[in-house]
Amino acid sequence: MKGRKLLMIPGPIEFEPDVLQAMGIATNSHVAPDFIETFGNSLELMRTVWKSPKGQPFIISGTGTLAMDMAISNLIESGDSVLVISSGYFGIRFKSILECYGAEVTVLEAPTGDVVSLDTIEEALKSKHYKALTMTHVDTSTGVLVDPKPIAHLAKKYNTLSILDGVCSVAGEEINQDDWSIDIVLTASQKAIGVPPGLALLMASEKAIQVWENRKTPVGNYYANWKNWLPIMKAYEERRPSYFGTPPVNLIVALEVSLKIICKEGINKRIKRHRYLAEAFRLGIEALHLKMLPVSNALAAHTLSAIYYPEGVDGASFSAKMNASDIIIAGGLLADIKSTYFRIGHMGSVSPNDLLAVLGALERALIELGYPIESGKSLHAFQNAIITN
Ligand code: PMP
Repeated sequence: MKGRKLLMIPGPIEFEPDVLQAMGIATNSHVAPDFIETFGNSLELMRTVWKSPKGQPFIISGTGTLAMDMAISNLIESGDSVLVISSGYFGIRFKSILECYGAEVTVLEAPTGDVVSLDTIEEALKSKHYKALTMTHVDTSTGVLVDPKPIAHLAKKYNTLSILDGVCSVAGEEINQDDWSIDIVLTASQKAIGVPPGLALLMASEKAIQVWENRKTPVGNYYANWKNWLPIMKAYEERRPSYFGTPPVNLIVALEVSLKIICKEGINKRIKRHRYLAEAFRLGIEALHLKMLPVSNALAAHTLSAIYYPEGVDGASFSAKMNASDIIIAGGLLADIKSTYFRIGHMGSVSPNDLLAVLGALERALIELGYPIESGKSLHAFQNAIITN
């Protein structure tokens, strides 16, 4: 399609045609038997994607921030101590949410592009009892990947609930919720799950549900309260009609389509695809002598790349040139260094063709802006990495 734009921001992403088609069907009743089946299937498929056969899934109309709010409002009571482990903008969002519910918050903040060390986390957990800790699997503001497994292990050791923001990771990075003992893994539809914005998705462990059941004070939130939603999720899974708030019918039909696409590809294969495409893309970027925001390759996410502009290249002009080449990219998000870097999303249905188009446009934009590179360098590095994969 001439003039078709390629949406390469870290969410919303390019969606599969079958998913978009599902959005356009005649809207069904939310209690029609076939929609009940779709909702029930989607809940079950979430367990496969999250690798959480024992988890309690929630599908709620809202965004990723609602999923964060739902985790905190249901699990945290006023005066509870919570440890926020942050590697960027979205890590800090947990602090704001926690403060709304009266939590005593301690923040461990990594230097830009880095992660908080396990030793630092363990020291904090040893120093006093925290009811919960929060972590961000991939902070979309920095493109930094955190390894949640050892952190969840520490949380368990110190009897602390672990809450993982997987908005930029679920269905794109490795997650094994039950084996890794993570109490909450939450996400939103518009990223690697591959459905237009509007769904908050959350999986709660048995322990998280027990902690919620044993609260001393009522949940200080009406819409997000599990008391309202847990019976609805159970009813749909048992294929019974129920109602609390009207579910976004078409989005959930699209979710079932996308979860089936994910499961058909196979979750392990999908994670591997994200990994090798991200690594090949990074080799392309490095071939142009551009610097990534994560301080080491081991900390670079596979769902997006955050890249510094080279000296002398103006961000607005660069974005305009990418746009003129029909590639939509995202600018920086971290307030202090916002104008110094840009971000490319590569998650969901992303293919080598998409990334070749991005690198081609990127080279042209940089050359036109006077950055001295030889055209074809990044394409060569990318192709070689894909061919030898
Ligand atoms: N956490 C992370 C890691 C995110 O990337 C985002 C969205 N970019 C959010 C939370 C918030 O999600 P939403 O915009 O859907 O509220």
